[in-house]
Amino acid sequence: MRFDLITIFPDFFANILGHGVLRRAIAQELVGVEVHDLRNFAHDRHRTVDDRPFGGGEGMVLKPEPLAEAVESLGIGSKGERDSARERVVLLSAQGRRFTQAVAREFAGLERLVLICGRYEGVDERVSELLCDEELSIGDYVLSGGELGAAVVVDATARLLPGVLGNEASSEYESFGATPTLIADSGRSGWGTRSGGEEGPPVAVVGSGGLLDYPHYTRPAEFRRMAVPEVLTQGDHAAIRRWRREMALRKTLRNRPDLLVGAELTDEDRRVLRGLGWRK
Ligand code: SAH
Repeated sequence: MRFDLITIFPDFFANILGHGVLRRAIAQELVGVEVHDLRNFAHDRHRTVDDRPFGGGEGMVLKPEPLAEAVESLGIGSKGERDSARERVVLLSAQGRRFTQAVAREFAGLERLVLICGRYEGVDERVSELLCDEELSIGDYVLSGGELGAAVVVDATARLLPGVLGNEASSEYESFGATPTLIADSGRSGWGTRSGGEEGPPVAVVGSGGLLDYPHYTRPAEFRRMAVPEVLTQGDHAAIRRWRREMALRKTLRNRPDLLVGAELTDEDRRVLRGLGWRK
């Protein structure tokens, strides 16, 4: 998958792309990230990319011509003739659709994603209308530029691409993991009966199914008089799976009860939740 980032601060991304999972993914050519300096598409002596707002008011607005030229330089189809299942042009904007793990999964299916980073008071509205497939917000707050948003999108999307994380399946088990699948019990999985309680071979729920992650522990077994939960040190893998699922349910109920509405819950999950005082 290839990302193209359009920005007035191209140096911003060096650090983010130069560490950890992203650095390795780029080195192994699993992901390509090209950063484009918007000023290269401005042609006056001062390489002007912004101007004052029509109608008055504070601040400056990014001009449409350099952004249009930048996008058009990428050899991507123009809006309308572009196949949005393969390539997409997205404007980072506080007014956009909210970015979530589900959107990251959607983006991970693309071949090409162009991210336009706004600055100042924002971007001339015609950029969104003429060039972009959508506006995207990383959360309900206002940032001073789209670069942090673009970095968030690249990071969250790239780690879902095949081969980027060491363990192919590992992103499935994390917070907000994909819809769980019922399978024959095979090790690292959740627990439960088929919903509706029908008979069948032993099944397990794989994937967090929209819950938050369970708590993780490493050595030492005791730290400042706090011991690691005993179940994790006793080698009973079925008990560990049950405990982890319960902890994920507890944490989701405590911190993000809104997620339980859309989560894939087994009958056993519901029983546990009701035991914790969940009324649904
Ligand atoms: N006047 C705008 C904010 C402009 S902030 C408003 O009130 O909505 C400048 C730039 O930062 C925006 O053009 C956008 O690219 C980026 N930005 C700000 N908040 C963002 C958010 N929550 N998500 C993604 N990008 C954001």
